[in-house]
Amino acid sequence: MPWARLLADPKTRERYEEKIYRRGATQCWYWLGAVSDSGHGKLRAGSRTDKTSQIVTAHALGYAIEHGVEQVLAADVVRHKCDSPSCQNPEHWLAGTRADNASEYAARMGTIGHALTDRRGAAGRARAIRDAIKAALADGADVEAAIEEAIIAGQPGGALQIELW
Ligand SMILES: [Zn+2]
Repeated sequence: MPWARLLADPKTRERYEEKIYRRGATQCWYWLGAVSDSGHGKLRAGSRTDKTSQIVTAHALGYAIEHGVEQVLAADVVRHKCDSPSCQNPEHWLAGTRADNASEYAARMGTIGHALTDRRGAAGRARAIRDAIKAALADGADVEAAIEEAIIAGQPGGALQIELW
């Protein structure tokens, strides 16, 4: 991904920032934009006028903004310690390998109540949380309550937040 060129467009950072729902330092910051079938945030990066813009994964762009282009290029994948692929809290990201990702996923997906066991799947979960936040913001309702309700809807046995460390 040509991160340096894409990030040279100041509007790209603006578009990224305005789609993040920021919360407490240790909480997940959910993506309010488009969500892919794998549950990852997506947005168009780069200048729209020069016809070189392209769709990128939101947290990878965020990682490039937070840690620099060299760091994101050096990473095989940028993982989520929180297992919420739409999360944009830089504290929840970890650069690693695809093998790390696969082994950790296997280890945790058997945990009852974990994000990975959401019956809607990662994309269904991310979209439900996004839609709940947007609806609560539009209605002036309690956003935290809406997020909690949206999470629990996919976990009939109760929700559990686990981080790698
Ligand atoms: Zn998170």
